[in-house]
Amino acid sequence: MGRMSANYDLHSHSLASDGTLAPAELVAAAHAGGVDVLALTDHDTTDGIAEAIQSARRLGLQLVPGVEISVSWQSQTIHVLGLGIDPACAELQAGLSGLREFRRWRAREIGRRLAKAGIPGCYEGACRQAQGRIVGRTHFAHHLVAEGHVRSVRDVFKRYLVNNKPGFVSGKWATLEDALGWIEHAGGLAVVAHPARYRMTATKLRRFLDDFRACGGVGMEVISGSHTRDNVATMAALCRNQDMLASCGSDYHGPENPWIKLGQLPALPAGCPPVWESERWPVAELTN
Ligand code: AMP
Ligand code: MN
Ligand code: MN
Ligand code: MN
Repeated sequence: MGRMSANYDLHSHSLASDGTLAPAELVAAAHAGGVDVLALTDHDTTDGIAEAIQSARRLGLQLVPGVEISVSWQSQTIHVLGLGIDPACAELQAGLSGLREFRRWRAREIGRRLAKAGIPGCYEGACRQAQGRIVGRTHFAHHLVAEGHVRSVRDVFKRYLVNNKPGFVSGKWATLEDALGWIEHAGGLAVVAHPARYRMTATKLRRFLDDFRACGGVGMEVISGSHTRDNVATMAALCRNQDMLASCGSDYHGPENPWIKLGQLPALPAGCPPVWESERWPVAELTN
């Protein structure tokens, strides 16, 4: 059985943030998995995009330049994807650079707190994991697992890196207005990443989507590697009721996550208009 339409994956990570494949390796893996259109959406950086575009050109895959921006909304961290952004946009780069500065401060602070909790050397370990790139919580998790302190990345988050745990530092990320402004300046389309992951009540999520749209946001991930089947059904209903465009992305971080594979996303549910069929989809920029 062939697919009726192209295979889209509009959310993925490389070594430029907390993925484990180099951008060229990620593109090759996506191509091998049958992906036709891949968005590289690293956290708060576009550093991997040039390499990804080169590799995509060689393989005949369409690479959508993207970014996953960390946003603070009502003291919650929300991830917003900018799809089809121009990485050369100065407003976007100035904004992302501020977020990376916060990340540098936060990484030291996480290290200090874990040391106080009896585990020294984590800042240095996380820096080694990040190989000189921006340090995120995933790098702390990889370090603690590699050192044998904790069995799995998931357990590190649960025991150390989330709210009310010893290594938690609350986020001071971009405002929704700012993040969507940068995306707009960069010619991109704003999409809420994995909306079912925020543990918001239905009412709060609807209020968030109202704010999101008021700031120029147009889409939400209905299909996500981190959504259960129930999540997909709930988000599909929300997408239809709130007149949003629908996106799908694996949120792939590398092959060590065996439950998220490239090229295997289910189709968007009926009645959810795909972002890539919107007239606002920045197609012109995307012809490699
Ligand atoms: P940061 O942006 O540095 O705060 O880290 C957020 C990233 O950590 C997410 O994009 C995921 O890659 C990862 N992450 C968050 N929560 C978990 C979890 N419970 N288990 C595994 N990875 C997680
Ligand atoms: Mn991540
Ligand atoms: Mn995310
Ligand atoms: Mn992601």
